[in-house]
Amino acid sequence: MDLLEYQGKQLFARHGVPVPRGGYAATVDEALDVADGIGYPVVVKAQVQIGGRGKAGGIKVARNRDEAGVHADAILGMDIRGLTVRELWIEEASDIASEYYASFVFDRAAKATLAMLSTKGGMDIEAVAEEDPAAIARLHVDPLLGFQDFHARRLCFDAGVDADVVRGVSALLGRLYEAYEQEEAMLVEVNPLIIKDDRSVAALDAKVTLDDNALFRHGDNAELRNVSGEDEQEVMAKERGLTYVKLDGDIGILGNGAGLVMSTLDVVAQAGGSPANFLDAGGGSKAEAITSAVEVILSDPKVKAVLFNIFGGITRCDEVAKGLIAAFAEIRPTVPFVVRLDGTNDKEGRALLAEAQLPNVHTEATMDGAAAKVVELAASTEASR
Ligand code: GDP
Ligand code: MN
Repeated sequence: MDLLEYQGKQLFARHGVPVPRGGYAATVDEALDVADGIGYPVVVKAQVQIGGRGKAGGIKVARNRDEAGVHADAILGMDIRGLTVRELWIEEASDIASEYYASFVFDRAAKATLAMLSTKGGMDIEAVAEEDPAAIARLHVDPLLGFQDFHARRLCFDAGVDADVVRGVSALLGRLYEAYEQEEAMLVEVNPLIIKDDRSVAALDAKVTLDDNALFRHGDNAELRNVSGEDEQEVMAKERGLTYVKLDGDIGILGNGAGLVMSTLDVVAQAGGSPANFLDAGGGSKAEAITSAVEVILSDPKVKAVLFNIFGGITRCDEVAKGLIAAFAEIRPTVPFVVRLDGTNDKEGRALLAEAQLPNVHTEATMDGAAAKVVELAASTEASR
């Protein structure tokens, strides 16, 4: 689960990471109240789950009440790369001497946490990683030893942090690791970590990803879920208990079993198509689950054709066929379906489909054949909406 900047900063503050004083606002009036309470100048910051808000005009310094009103009014409702701004965070303006970058991220390949620090913060860290990888100091944290002060000092030394702020930056890194570990985050990122004119340090931005699987241990954090920032189909699928991931393409995919769905995505791509989603209906799916899954897939307006790839084991192909027939009765899809049913009760399933005479549903015997067919159909179909 990704947190908004202000939620991340509040989480940081609980662990002693220094952050500027600030307050939340959802209207211009609230923004002015918060700004008056802080005292000018303030920074008005759009709260959307996407980086690069600064460049998009979603972060503005206000020197007085009039400017705060103008900026809050302009930023609320603004579209930042497809997300509409509905919330603001107003905070005391900081005088910035340097902008650094710091993060702790779960590194699956190394089975450990990766700590990173760079004095080239503020800008796009991916660009720094590409153009000047040596500018990012890195080390892996042994989970039993934890992140110790000597680790922090080594990172500071490797990154070339100014000597007079090593102590402050190290202390911030220690608190940040504590937040990362105790809140069971997958990522905490501070960009920029600022050195102020008075040489104190603070986290000026916060990106936090919490481990969804650990949320049950953190009741307060679980309440932070921000549905408006999440993808519409993914929210719908989560509510229905389906394993669904939205992708960029136009071919809806449904399979039973994560491994089968992954290979289906590959085969569709190999046939020249582009999958719109990953959807694992799971083993043993009943008709209702299939109907529910079809609704999720078709609620994505980009979908031009759908591929069902079912390899029946515990899943019974006749249940899948019944689910698809029920989905047609309920939502009358206008896009073509290609169905490959193989395994337990496949004959029964195919017989049910033949009998139902669903419009524009094609059965195929093999995975490769089904992929080729769905790619061909998608190429000659308009999207459903
Ligand atoms: P992002 O663009 O979404 O990553 O948002 P950030 O919170 O990182 O802000 C982007 C940039 O705005 C920072 O790198 C700063 O240069 C600038 N900025 C943000 N807050 C302040 C502030 O209080 N004072 C000043 N002078 N600049 C700020
Ligand atoms: Mn940033």
